Amino acid sequence: MAVNGKAFLIDTTKCTACRACQVACKQWNELAAETTENRGGYENPPDFTANTWLRVQFKETERSDGSLAWTFVRSSCRHCIDAPCKQEAANSDSITIDSDTGAVLFGEGTKDESYAAIRTACPFDIPRQDSEGQLFKCRMCVDRVDNEDLEAAADRIPACAKVCTTGAITFGDYADITAAADARLAEVIAEGFTNATILDRNDVRLLILLAEPAGMYSLTTRG
Ligand code: SF4
Repeated sequence: MAVNGKAFLIDTTKCTACRACQVACKQWNELAAETTENRGGYENPPDFTANTWLRVQFKETERSDGSLAWTFVRSSCRHCIDAPCKQEAANSDSITIDSDTGAVLFGEGTKDESYAAIRTACPFDIPRQDSEGQLFKCRMCVDRVDNEDLEAAADRIPACAKVCTTGAITFGDYADITAAADARLAEVIAEGFTNATILDRNDVRLLILLAEPAGMYSLTTRG
């Protein structure tokens, strides 16, 4: 079945962990900052919350040859094509699919859903609840993507993609992004990263390209 709508490519080989994407998400969506503390590493906040929808997640591991690997990856809702969270929702209008982009959108009606059931249904443990019971996560910035007040097409992309200076976050039509992801994967493998992969390639709209084995990243996968 052909998939329409939009998608992201997160190319971890180009990410420098500057976290501009994390800040841009907060700024565009007017999400309050978290009170954080120095936990001995670069990663903060330590978890998703109702006010933190995007995080750069860090991990240090040792390769089989004894060398150290320090990985980082931008994580958020994957906007699953057949979203388990929506399947779990008791009310059809509490979690909806945007007809233009395919974005999975949580509405006010999520207050009446079971938080435990929706969170458990998500293979990536993304949804979080606020103090009033509503559930929150990335909205693919549909209010930018569909926003005709933003005159330049280059501005009608999610805030995280707009601010990424290295090309680690790109956004566009699903067919173009999957083609770009496959082409980039072939390049990365040719560069010698024989374990490179695209996580959940056919199931999600947030395609994450990893150069190292998946276990070397601070991420869960659907498979
Ligand atoms: Fe729903 Fe989780 Fe998939 Fe996002 S990643 S669409 S919250 S199941």
